[in-house]
Amino acid sequence: MTLVLLVEDDARIRGGIVRNLAARGYETRATSNGLEGLTLIVDEKPDVVLLDLGLPDISGLDLLRMVRAVSTVPVIVVTARDDDDEIVRTLDLGADDYIVKPFSVNQLEARVRAVLRRSRDTEEVDQPIVVGGLRIDLAARTATLEGRSLDLSRKEFDLLAALAQRAGRVVTRRQLLAEVWSQPFGGSDKTLDVHLSWLRKKLDESASRPRYLVTVHGVGVRLVDPGEEPPR
Ligand code: CA
Repeated sequence: MTLVLLVEDDARIRGGIVRNLAARGYETRATSNGLEGLTLIVDEKPDVVLLDLGLPDISGLDLLRMVRAVSTVPVIVVTARDDDDEIVRTLDLGADDYIVKPFSVNQLEARVRAVLRRSRDTEEVDQPIVVGGLRIDLAARTATLEGRSLDLSRKEFDLLAALAQRAGRVVTRRQLLAEVWSQPFGGSDKTLDVHLSWLRKKLDESASRPRYLVTVHGVGVRLVDPGEEPPR
């Protein structure tokens, strides 16, 4: 059974999420207290954590930093406002995804499923990553689109691979610059944009008509299955 830990200080929201997830077959633990949440992560080893950023005892960002020091558990940050800067900071600190209140249970469960799929996939590194008609073989460094082999440069492949390894989730510009261009403190956005547009061309799409590569304004880029998920 999948264990979801919810760290949320609003009793009404907490109760609602717990009830709904339980009704869908998830096991849940919940706390209103950030530091107790950290203890539960260590003791109970949940499969996924839903972390409210606005907690009374500790800032969500500080808590996330502490969680990442002790655990690689997938973390979905729950934020009350659509604050791009804050969302980018949490993703840079190692959150796996975020969701903005108010949200539907369907949306929440889809995010939970996506991060779980991802954390289970990483255990099988030799398996190609399949996203819709895209197939990315990290070991062989090859990619195909609808069975047709893609002729990608080294950086284009690295960029696609970085996105594919977190398919469905937003990867921040800073994360991409760090992983693909070894520039952990940020670098030229231009370089990233140019490579993105080259990659888009090879995937038969453009920034104005995205299919697989969806720009999340002010945050980063998500690789999605165009048949499964509308751009958000
Ligand atoms: Ca709160």
